[in-house]
Amino acid sequence: MSDIRIDLQSDTQTRPTPGMMRAMAEAPLGDEQVDGDPTTDRLCAMVAGLFGKEAAVLMPSGTMCNLAAILVHCRPGDEILCDRTAHIITSESGGPAAIAGAMPRALDGVNGIFTPDQVVDGIRDVKRNAPRTRLLHVEQTANLGGGTVWPLAALEAVTETARRHGLATHMDGARLMNATVASGVAAGDYGRLVDSLWLDLSKGLGCPVGGVLAGSAAFIEEAWCWKQRLGGAMRQSGVLAAAGIYALDNHVERLAEDHANARAFAEGVRGLPGVVPDPGEVPTNIVFLDVTGTGMTTDAFRDRVLEHGVRLGRSDRRRLRAVTHLDVTRAHIDEAVRAVRDVAGAAERVA
Ligand SMILES: *Cc1c(COP(=O)(O)O)cnc(C)c1O
Repeated sequence: MSDIRIDLQSDTQTRPTPGMMRAMAEAPLGDEQVDGDPTTDRLCAMVAGLFGKEAAVLMPSGTMCNLAAILVHCRPGDEILCDRTAHIITSESGGPAAIAGAMPRALDGVNGIFTPDQVVDGIRDVKRNAPRTRLLHVEQTANLGGGTVWPLAALEAVTETARRHGLATHMDGARLMNATVASGVAAGDYGRLVDSLWLDLSKGLGCPVGGVLAGSAAFIEEAWCWKQRLGGAMRQSGVLAAAGIYALDNHVERLAEDHANARAFAEGVRGLPGVVPDPGEVPTNIVFLDVTGTGMTTDAFRDRVLEHGVRLGRSDRRRLRAVTHLDVTRAHIDEAVRAVRDVAGAAERVA
């Protein structure tokens, strides 16, 4: 296999910067399980403040943020309303079902965004033989929806509907800061709409590990129990938290560059034979390309692009995914466009 020089597989493919490494090396440390770690406490206070919540907890991953939140909100047999493309359905090894005993009920949204009517239709009547609809789960940005940003008004509408029906509300904010940068809406304005939410440190923010889950003090107390039970309680976690603090101080505003690069990539490949950005809009840092028109499988197309040192992600049988991040420059994008153009052009000549 050729060397990967440009990695668009995911925004998890970043390496800590020298500044981040320095912050990690210099962090004051304790033991978060025993009597707290000062740097972790600082990060948690920072994220709680950002979201306008009482408290927060550092988790080893975003997946554990979702799982712990679902464990706090739901009892076994409860139903979770979420979009059919939600990460909790597609990419968490069935954790909500396997560990929380909760059943996701998939709503058929558009690019990951669904409506209050769909929420109402998804809520089951209270009956002895019906599962209890318990939690509304939204993804900001919607990953498989194409990095779509939930507009604030749409979020207000679905969360208000959920609350009116007695549901708890949770936001998967793996790319929440991408949403705030793209929309100009403050993180706290999203935070006040939901009972619990989290941001991923290891996606666009460029940290090696972690997610931070926020909510009421009582919610975080419960989430802490699940963190311990799931084996997620750490010791000198300040090493990781320091990276998070550094990222929140230095890597948020620059997400706009990732968004511009993603748009440039989509524009660069738009119109190539058989390659269609889908969805056509690129609101944040994720670009999906439908390559079925080339006559190649997504795997074959991806392998051919990889020969140019450019790695794309495979999403499904129809679409490839390119995600921009801290370690991708505009020059990389130009090179990635040339690679895709080459492969698409070669496919056309064969056809
Ligand atoms: C990546 C991702 C997660 C999980 O985060 P990890 O830190 O990789 O466990 C959850 N939801 C969405 C939408 C994601 O993109």
